[in-house]
This record gives sequence, structure tokens and C-alpha cells, in this order.
Amino acid sequence: MHKQEQAAVADGKGGKSTALSLEDARARILAQLTPVALLEQVPLRAALGRILGAGILARLDVPAHTNSAMDGYAVRVADLPATGGVSLALVGESFAGHPFADEVGPGQCVRIMTGAVLPRGADTVVIQEDVVAEGALVRMGAGHRRGQHVRHAGEDLAAGATVLVAGRRVGAADLGLLASIGVAEVTVRRRLRVAFFSTGDELRSLGEPLGEGDIYDSNRYTLYGLLTRFGAEVIDLGVVRDEPVALREAFARAGAAADVVLTSGGVSVGAADHVRDVLAEAGEVDFWKINMKPGKPVAFGRLHAGAAFFGLPGNPVSAMVTFLQVVRPALDHMAGATAQPPLVLTARAGEPLEKGGRRREFQRGLLASGDDGELVVRPAAPQGSGILRSMSAANCFIVLPEEGGPVAAGDLVCVEPFAEGW
Ligand code: AMP
Ligand code: MG
Repeated sequence: MHKQEQAAVADGKGGKSTALSLEDARARILAQLTPVALLEQVPLRAALGRILGAGILARLDVPAHTNSAMDGYAVRVADLPATGGVSLALVGESFAGHPFADEVGPGQCVRIMTGAVLPRGADTVVIQEDVVAEGALVRMGAGHRRGQHVRHAGEDLAAGATVLVAGRRVGAADLGLLASIGVAEVTVRRRLRVAFFSTGDELRSLGEPLGEGDIYDSNRYTLYGLLTRFGAEVIDLGVVRDEPVALREAFARAGAAADVVLTSGGVSVGAADHVRDVLAEAGEVDFWKINMKPGKPVAFGRLHAGAAFFGLPGNPVSAMVTFLQVVRPALDHMAGATAQPPLVLTARAGEPLEKGGRRREFQRGLLASGDDGELVVRPAAPQGSGILRSMSAANCFIVLPEEGGPVAAGDLVCVEPFAEGW
């Protein structure tokens, strides 16, 4: 079957291709999914990583008052000479949290600290390094600019301006930004509930002894990490034996509990896999060959219980790559998040890269800056789809286009840095 699939893909240019491009697969999936509608109010800190359910407007100016950016003296620029120097009368001080109550008059100045309100009358700050304080007089010279070292009210955010838009995933800076306008509660979308299980009779859970030919189930841990980082509520249903009864029950439980059901293994055409047969009863599911490597085949559809379903390949690297390239954009959409196209950079291949066939390859790479400051990428480890170490060691995908062949050392290639450590 593997051979046939390859042939079908290679045929893609001419007659009937059975392989979908990654873009088509993504578009078809998105067209069938709707975002979770429920909104909830959470305290500001709990909004970290959540998706904003509504845009947020600034309720006040930030900064709220025009203030000093430096420690120094608040003055009227008109008092400063074009050449030579001038002595101004020191009439008070303005400290952060303790503003000067009066106006700065002509010939006067006020000692001012960073963040302190600029007193009425003053328009400029002369830094303390540029003056000589002589008791009640402060001597300063020429060459100052009107408004220097002054932060204007509303220069960060103006009252009424949009601070963050709906669909944004709230980050650390956003928490601070929202705090700066006094927002204590945030409207976010309900978290996506994602249930997952692994299929395969060779799989053992941690703590179980390994019989001959058995392996530990690693995909459930990878998926746990990916989904938790994504911000989903995860429901881990364990390893499910490749038996119709067990599979039926697992799909029923998962479909009832979750918005999305993810499985790994059993979607290729292995003789012993019952997953396909059971899925045919459990929902409307298509089996796709997406023109990517690693990663095909991927199953997608909807279970009768209503949940969206993704069947990932069992090979650990294939499962991760299809999750990141196919499932994650779909989860973003369902979670109500605005699509974030990946950052694509150009880097020089530090060594030759193999490529056969006409699929888009997502090789696991290590991106670094070379001696001349140029980006250089090398394979992170051997590229077999079962070699999970390659994902663990990588900090980017090296994306080799469908039409291209092998890459020579020194050629330019596209890389997609991992936004987070996966
Ligand atoms: P399958 O997609 O079920 O044909 O599996 C392809 C390969 O991935 C086989 O070598 C499986 O043993 C392996 N595999 C399947 N599921 C997992 C899993 N959960 N953890 C680690 N390896 C797996
Ligand atoms: Mg299997």
C-alpha cells in the first residue's frame, strides 16, 4: 500500500491524485468546524494562555498623567538660554506618588523623579546630570529640547483605544497591559475539551512490564504536552486495545466527553487494525493522504456524538508533525483563536539534506546563527518517522517543498522555528 500511495502522490501533476495538499486539507477541515461559543469571565491571572472572547478597550489613558521619564528638574523650556547658562529657583519637588501641588512659574524649577507627575507650567525635564544644584538655585545650560524626557498622558494607550482584539491568546505582556488599564476580569472562550487515546496491541502504559515486541506508549505523553501547552482541557483515555468492542466503547466515551477526539495509530491500512471499521460505525470519517512527510495518512471527521475527530498516524514523529501542521490550526479555529501563520525564515543548509518523492517534507532541524551572523540549519537527528529524538532535539522544521529534490550544503532552505519548545 505504501508503494501505491507514493505512486498516487507522484501522479499528482497529471491525472487523478489521491493526495491532498496540506493547504487544501487545512481549508477543508476549517470549513467543517465551528468555534466554541461559550464565554466565561476569569480573573486577570487566569486569563494567561486563554483566548479573548471580546475585544478590550482602554478605560483610561496610560500613562494617566504626563510624567517624567528621568530623574532631574521640571522646567519651562522658555526659561532655558540658547547659549550660556541660567539659574532657576528651586520651588519644590514632585516624586512618584507625591505630585507637586502648585504651578511652576517663570524662572522656577521643581525637582522631579522618574514616573512623577509633571507639574503644571513645566513642559520639559533637564536630567540631574546636566545641572549644578546650588542650594535654592539650580544652574543649567543651553541645548535642551522642548518636551525632552517627558512621557505624555495616553502615549502608551489612549482612553477608548482598542488594547487587544477578540481571538487573541493572552500572553505575559498582555496581562501587564490589561493590569495597566485597571482590568481585573477578562472575558475568554471556554477551553476546548480534547479526549485522546492510543491504539495498538503492542503499546504498554508506564509501570507495566514490556513483553517481547511491546513498546511504551509515548504518543499519549507527547499529545498531553502539546494539548496542555495549547491550553486545552485534556481527557486521557489511555491505551485502547485493537478490538472492536474496546474501540467502540472508547469512541463513545470520548465523543460524549469532548469537543475533539484525537487518536494515534491504526489509521493506516494495517491488517490487524480495527480502528477503521469501528470508525465507520462511530461517525462520518474520511481517510486522507496529505501530501506531506512524515504524516500520512490522517483521518478526519465527526463522531455521531458530535465531537470532531482526528486520527493521527502512530509513528511518534508523524503524530507530532500532523498534530502541529494539521490539527493545531483546527484547534485554534475551534478555540476561537485568530490564525497565526507560522514564522518562516530562510537559512543556509549546513549539510546536505536528503529528499526523495514529491511530498512536502517537514524535517527536524537545529537552527543557529553561523559565524557571519547568517542562519544555518542542520538536521537535528536521523530523520526516521519513528525517531522521536529528532523532535526533541529540534528547534525548527526544515520545510522542503513538494517539487524540490535533495538539498546541497550551502543552499538556502525555509525553516519554521518552533514558537515554543515542543
Ligand atoms: P500504526 O499507525 O498503528 O500503524 O503505527 C505505526 C508505528 O507507530 C508502529 O511502529 C507503532 O508501534 C508505533 N506506535 C503506534 N502508536 C504508538 C504510541 N502511542 N506510542 C509509540 N509508538 C506508537
Ligand atoms: Mg497500530
